[in-house]
Amino acid sequence: MNLSGKRALIMGVANDHSIAWGIAKALHGAGADLAFTYQGEAFGKRVAPLAASLGSDFLVDADVTDDASLDRAFGAVADRWGGLDILIHAIAFSDKSELHGRFINTTRENFRTSMVISCYSLIDVARRARALMPQGGTILTLTYQGSNRVTPHYNVMGVAKAALESAVRYLANDLGPEGIRVNAISPGPMKTLAGAAIGGARATFRHTEANAPLRANATLDAIGGTAVWLCSEAGRCTTGEVVRVDGGFHVLGMPQAENL
Ligand code: NAD
Repeated sequence: MNLSGKRALIMGVANDHSIAWGIAKALHGAGADLAFTYQGEAFGKRVAPLAASLGSDFLVDADVTDDASLDRAFGAVADRWGGLDILIHAIAFSDKSELHGRFINTTRENFRTSMVISCYSLIDVARRARALMPQGGTILTLTYQGSNRVTPHYNVMGVAKAALESAVRYLANDLGPEGIRVNAISPGPMKTLAGAAIGGARATFRHTEANAPLRANATLDAIGGTAVWLCSEAGRCTTGEVVRVDGGFHVLGMPQAENL
């Protein structure tokens, strides 16, 4: 699972708790060269020292709702690297006020925002990455099991993740003939900025840990290791897949007997 000489663009590091950061560390450990996008100056100040700790000074501001900023970011990758091997898309957003309470209260405006940032952005960046991957490559996104199982408070984000997982399959089919693989990792709950915005985050974290077959939540290292597998030759026959890194929680039909 050697990624020496591979060029990876990491989108979605906010801080050292970010899932994208766990993936960046693992890809770096496997030998990949890294570039990072960040969302605005405030995040840029946090991401720069993290990138430097992995030997990267390649950072570009990119907001996925802004075509011009995506043009600049992918233009910078083309200018500096001339191509790309790995794209990590670890981006999602919904108005926090709709990540509490009942799904039925979802507004049209936040539905649109959540879908555009959390799902459409994958399609948009995949199209841009494809142009830089004439020899093939790997695209990886992040999802959550709230896509197909009702999870309290996850609400519109569950619908966005269902659309994202479907987009993974359609993109995998479009790009497969070009040697580009598209997959998603589905971790259990993680203590991140985005994760903390979801109602009942602590309870969800505790519930998963107490009931998952492995009696453990996912870790940044475990997610990173899965990303290395999917992005390396070892994953060469896997595309259009959603790989769970959740301690096995998704197999349950009921909480464990000791927790009933
Ligand atoms: P995080 O807050 O560290 O990362 C979310 C990132 O999305 C941030 O870097 C933020 O800047 C970026 N982002 C949001 N809107 C953007 C925009 N308009 N343009 C560019 N970037 C934007 O949280 P995280 O938990 O590491 O989230 C990464 C991914 O993992 C998300 O897709 C999330 O849904 C998914 N995920 C999270 C969990 C969890 O429990 N935390 C579980 C499964 C999947």
